[in-house]
Amino acid sequence: MSAIATAGFAQDEQFPILFTNIHVFDGVNEARIENANVLVVDNLIAEVSSEPLAVANARVIDGGGRTLTPGFIDAHTHMSLIAPFEQLENEYTAIYVGAAAGQMAEDMLMRGFTSVRDAGGASIGVQRAIDDGWFNGPRVFSSGAFITQTSGHLDMRDRTNTHHSFGGQHSHAESIGHFYAVDGEDEMLAAARQNFRGGATQLKLATNGGISATYSPLDIDQFTNDELEAAAYVAESFGSYIMVHAYYDNAINRAIDFGAKSVEHGHLMTEDVIKKMAENNVYLVVEALMSTSEAPPSFTPDQAEKFGLAKSGFDGMVELAKQYNLKIAFGSDVFLSKDAYGLQSQEWIARNPYFTPFENLRSATGIGGEILALSGPRNRYRDGPLGVIEVGAYADILLIDGNPLEDIKILADPKENIDLIMKDGVIYKNTLGNN
Ligand SMILES: [Zn+2]
Repeated sequence: MSAIATAGFAQDEQFPILFTNIHVFDGVNEARIENANVLVVDNLIAEVSSEPLAVANARVIDGGGRTLTPGFIDAHTHMSLIAPFEQLENEYTAIYVGAAAGQMAEDMLMRGFTSVRDAGGASIGVQRAIDDGWFNGPRVFSSGAFITQTSGHLDMRDRTNTHHSFGGQHSHAESIGHFYAVDGEDEMLAAARQNFRGGATQLKLATNGGISATYSPLDIDQFTNDELEAAAYVAESFGSYIMVHAYYDNAINRAIDFGAKSVEHGHLMTEDVIKKMAENNVYLVVEALMSTSEAPPSFTPDQAEKFGLAKSGFDGMVELAKQYNLKIAFGSDVFLSKDAYGLQSQEWIARNPYFTPFENLRSATGIGGEILALSGPRNRYRDGPLGVIEVGAYADILLIDGNPLEDIKILADPKENIDLIMKDGVIYKNTLGNN
């Protein structure tokens, strides 16, 4: 259903919406609430009951025995990293990136992702444009520009473009906010504050190099302790937190010591560090699709080698993370090309060998909601929790044809199997003919 058709539903906003004849997955508990009724008033869930609810003036949606779930949360996206980094630096203007991200945002919402956390890149404008009603998309929790160091992950400057201390030139990708390369405590303070000034909800730092980066070996430790302390200070002063891109023990250890609350990737960490994550209530965001597939064709041999190294640690890490009961969130980490973004829902398939359907659903709902809430006062949606079906929660709701707790793979075809998509009490898709 197109965005234009959406306008037709908007007039119903003032009426309560009553979902009947549905089985509720609440984002936390494995057992569904069978034959339930859920009442939405304005943009919040007002009632969840297995008893019939009589509500005057309500628009009734008969779910026909479908499963009602919270809207999904992708805790690791990059809405603005639409191409390999060299191309972001040299070929794509801010307006091109914004236009592409606008379409991508609508596509994500139509796949059932009603909230996403953006893990770095120029996505703050996308977040604002969605909330201002220019186009449809998920709630975006943007990290703003990815914070790196010279020769760190997402240092997108050309090889010939040196650091400004050595005559380097203005970087296009840096100026539009894809990344900030910072060296020294002062630059870290400026970058972190600049991100929050723009509307970031949390900070994204790398303490190891990155696979897709051109000048950043995977194994390097990034940032001095002073630099990390400066970032932690700013995150804390804004009431928020740091999410950290890291693979190795030392990088994750240091990040936790400086207060990081969410580890992205982590493939090559060992048991001691996983234990430390558990002890410190640090979340792990698992991105199975990018971790188990083949290296993208656009990769250089060096990037492909780093990709292989990270991939080799993935299975062992997941096993240990489950053993230590880490709270694991759902992340697709799709970026680099239009085709790659189209794979977002394939993350459900990629995770399937590693997690039960319940574990995957919980990762993409209740646990995702907990991560989003870590942004504290920087969270723009503070009227209720996200990722759960409970009284007082935001009415971000899906109706799924089938039971994903028995067959998670149905979620990989959202066009066919997600029949209704509601965000903030507004219906964006509804293929149920009887309502
Ligand atoms: Zn990423």
